[in-house]
Amino acid sequence: MQKILNAQTTFQWLFRAHFLKALSAYHFPHCRKKIKGPLRVQIQTINGCNADCLMCPYGKSSGKGSMQVMEDELYTKILKELERSGSTLNLTFMLQNEPFLDRDLAFRVQKARELLGPRTSIAIVTNGSMLTVKRIDEIIRAGVDFIDISIDAYTEETYKKIRPGLDFQAVTHNARLLLQRRNNAHISVRFLRLPQNRSEEDSFKRFWKALGADVRFCLTTNRAGSVENFDQIRLTESNNFRKKLTILLRGFIPPCHDPFHSLNVLWDGRVILCCHDWSPRDVIGNLQENSLSQIWSSHNFNHYRNLLMNWRWKESQVCHDCSVVTDLQENQRNNTIPCFM
Ligand code: SF4
Repeated sequence: MQKILNAQTTFQWLFRAHFLKALSAYHFPHCRKKIKGPLRVQIQTINGCNADCLMCPYGKSSGKGSMQVMEDELYTKILKELERSGSTLNLTFMLQNEPFLDRDLAFRVQKARELLGPRTSIAIVTNGSMLTVKRIDEIIRAGVDFIDISIDAYTEETYKKIRPGLDFQAVTHNARLLLQRRNNAHISVRFLRLPQNRSEEDSFKRFWKALGADVRFCLTTNRAGSVENFDQIRLTESNNFRKKLTILLRGFIPPCHDPFHSLNVLWDGRVILCCHDWSPRDVIGNLQENSLSQIWSSHNFNHYRNLLMNWRWKESQVCHDCSVVTDLQENQRNNTIPCFM
């Protein structure tokens, strides 16, 4: 029971409840004024990464080497607008990048904590390679709630295949260090299910659970068509309740609900339709020029939501090739249930 009611699970259920509220607001316009902004924000305060992972388009579709940092003025503007909207339940530092490359990350977390208060949970998703005692202590003191480390392998051999360029021993050492020094922060380790690591799932789970970490399993997507080798890294599931339900409720719920509750902000203030849009292709607006509420309720954003709601995602440049939705369509044709992230 205690496991079920841990902080992360509670957060997930709260988030789902708010998502339903957001969806009702979409269906019933008189409810819209209650949803003044995104429930979840993913933010990129620096646009680089120090890895070159098997399942990631970084370096292939985005510019490697041109690292850019978000200006303080813009960051503060975003936080103040989120504070005004009062809608944000979660702020996640990670969007097509490695957030710890930003030297000011702890300062940014602290500022978010001060402005957004305890109602907004603050999360960081990282590859764990840049964690040191100093940085861990800084970030914990700054008030982070969740830190999620992507590891994806139990053995060094498998890790090297999936995350070339990073050091397995260093990352697992850093993750253990974080677990020891976490204070009240919630720590999870992530395992992206791939054909390459299939046999290591149980050992991974046992090992990290014994150390007190939560273990999160995910399935990969083709990141809106940006992953060239997707056929080599995809796993399919034959029975996925969520997918069946989505198809059953077609017309009432969209095949993908991300744009209904989330906002994705790049280092220069551009808001992109989806965290999977790596090029990016569909830019909704720019927070340097427009306010958050203008972008959130803009005609442009609603246009993409409409396309998803009406199952016409092919008309969106980004969603067109996305495996999250194309798998559903395929599923309808073949009456099978493919994988979903
Ligand atoms: S369907 Fe569109 S919005 Fe949803 S995950 Fe795919 S690209 Fe993103």
